Amino acid sequence: MESYGRARSDWPFPVDGVVINVNDVLAQAELGLGTDAPRWAVAYKFPPDQTKTRVTAIVWQVGRTGLVTPVAEVEPITLGGATVARATLHNRAQVQRLDLRVGDEVTIEKAGEIVPQIAEILRDRRPSDAAPVEIPTVCPQCGEPLSDDGPTLRCLNADCPAQLSRRLAHFVSDAGVGVHGLGPATISTLLAAGLVSEPADLYALTVAQLTPLVGAKVAEKLVAAVAESRDVSLERLITAVGIPRIGPAAARVVATHFGSLEAVMRSDTEAHIEGLSGTARAELRAYLAFEANRRQLERLLAAGLDPRQTKPTTGGVLAGRSFVLTGRLASLTRTDARALIEAAGGEVRDELTRQVDFVVAGENPGAKAENAKLLGIPVLDEAALRSLLSAQR
Ligand SMILES: [Zn+2]
Repeated sequence: MESYGRARSDWPFPVDGVVINVNDVLAQAELGLGTDAPRWAVAYKFPPDQTKTRVTAIVWQVGRTGLVTPVAEVEPITLGGATVARATLHNRAQVQRLDLRVGDEVTIEKAGEIVPQIAEILRDRRPSDAAPVEIPTVCPQCGEPLSDDGPTLRCLNADCPAQLSRRLAHFVSDAGVGVHGLGPATISTLLAAGLVSEPADLYALTVAQLTPLVGAKVAEKLVAAVAESRDVSLERLITAVGIPRIGPAAARVVATHFGSLEAVMRSDTEAHIEGLSGTARAELRAYLAFEANRRQLERLLAAGLDPRQTKPTTGGVLAGRSFVLTGRLASLTRTDARALIEAAGGEVRDELTRQVDFVVAGENPGAKAENAKLLGIPVLDEAALRSLLSAQR
């Protein structure tokens, strides 16, 4: 374990622990099962990487949902193989609890190798002139008063430019409606030119408007990409509009429950939705209660987006059948293949187990196709999948 700890800084990927596995099946049987894991497979976590540096500034960032979070800027240091110049402080309350000051020497650690955070403030080394951090009362981006929401600060201004650019970037991302080629720089250009102030505005952009900003070629591509994104599914549109606590999984629950955007907007906001947490439900309710949000959804419908989601059909041709996809299929993307199978009532799983009915294998299928043969599970190619799908229509 210690030797792995020393060696890991030379590895080209971050590592937060090691699993030691006994391969010998007889030895596995002898070691047996512990209370929550087999004794022959043990996971060890490395202690977090830590290093000292000095805080040079505290800046306040405005997120997509208006949350204003403090970030400590520090003298750059190397930590876990990466250069670190900022550390998260989570929220206003934590800054006050820690009484962190600019000029403080601090210990920074990477928890689970993800976001660096401040582990400790070396108070005895604090410079005498270090002043407490001022908590902002107005949004650093738009100047509107901030709402003081328990431990957090929030900018409630729906037109706040910081939120707007992040909201648009999220809207067009692959998790959202997926407009290819529309990155943060182009979004800034569109905002600066006053062409876009909410997602629906994207669908009114013309090549003539965009050409002076990005050139004719890019303008044409962009307009085509925006048009293509009209075909988005309901679950991705719900993800795209960025409702707090409604990520892709919750969006999918909402989408299959309601089936259309109109039904979501008409929904009885008090009703229970199977599979959706109470907090996510409350956020959806709060979102729909805001007139400006409803108007934005209506404008998306008016712009030609009409996303629908069919409920998984229990009576479909593939009802009760489970599939694992592997390799590159001839003409379908994985996402499309999954959608077709699910539309026919089938289920797509990530893990290959004995309970899986079919493996659909394309080019370079990897170990799953081999293992399927060993388990006696039929392996289909794309053509066979298509004939299965069209079996009863
Ligand atoms: Zn603001």
